[in-house]
Amino acid sequence: MKALLLDEHGDVDNVYFGEAPVPKAGPGEVVVQVKAAALNGLDLWVIEGWPALRVQFPHIIGSDGAGIVADVGEEVEDVSAGDRVAVNPTVSCGECDYCRTGQENRCQRFVVLGEQIAGFFAEYVAVPAANLLPLPQAVSFETAAAASLVFVTAWHSLIEAGGLRAGEDVLIVGAGGGVNTAAIQIARLAGARLIYVVGSSDEKLERARSLGADVLINRHEENWSKAVYLRTNKKGVDVVVDNVGAATFHDSLRALRKGGRLLTVGNSSGPQFQFDNRFMFGKHLSIVGSTMGTRRDFERVMGLVFSDRLQPVIDTVYPLRQGVKALRRLRDGDVMGKLVLSP
Ligand code: ZN
Repeated sequence: MKALLLDEHGDVDNVYFGEAPVPKAGPGEVVVQVKAAALNGLDLWVIEGWPALRVQFPHIIGSDGAGIVADVGEEVEDVSAGDRVAVNPTVSCGECDYCRTGQENRCQRFVVLGEQIAGFFAEYVAVPAANLLPLPQAVSFETAAAASLVFVTAWHSLIEAGGLRAGEDVLIVGAGGGVNTAAIQIARLAGARLIYVVGSSDEKLERARSLGADVLINRHEENWSKAVYLRTNKKGVDVVVDNVGAATFHDSLRALRKGGRLLTVGNSSGPQFQFDNRFMFGKHLSIVGSTMGTRRDFERVMGLVFSDRLQPVIDTVYPLRQGVKALRRLRDGDVMGKLVLSP
């Protein structure tokens, strides 16, 4: 089968379009014929690698995908070849204390498709049958693939970990990324009072407005932390969504009101930075980190996608053979929403 392959960690240019064997369905698994796969910032981290990451080369990246069941392994019930499916990107053991209490994203043997094990940038992928969700006929494979990782991540961060309540003011730092475009919609659905978005261009900010943002701040035109402070009558917002990290964290803490929460699921501008601890105790702030989501989060948020109450923003769909080009665009950052690959 055709696939995007990685022989060693490094740059995006280490990824190539080549041949790989079609995977087999082990016990409890199915093989899915991939009809659409979506890119995530995570792909770039996996390509680069980190000390604790162990993969089997040649590695197939890609954490988001949807398709049609092509083969069903032993011990799998209620799934048939030909079923249209969305796929939960995270694989948990089902046995540890976290899994037994429905906190699968804290699993002690937690892995992500395309991260530690083969992913979706291929014609076929083997996944646990427990990760499948039936995909309604009316929902496209592209929509399911583009929604999965970012919506489950944003949902868990805002609703479950962050406890976002109706009537709260939310600031989302960054307008273009997949998680942030999901976060704007989820905050709107949860009844946020005002949604502030900081973005790098008027075009991205206008798109954020169409998704539900109320107050748009172009970071090239004003000091956004100060702007939020002034526009909230010098109170600040209840919740900040900051998945940028090094470049923005300090300003995000400044933009929070007393008792506010800073929610984070990532750090696109770098993982290590300093912040002023006086904001933390002086303003009674909390930093709430989480990664991905639980099985229940996935079912709930995808149900909202399937009923069209949440819609992933798709920038461009590329054929799989142009995957490296798509990865370069993701690396260079000029993207509004999701890049999707079609095998
Ligand atoms: Zn577990």
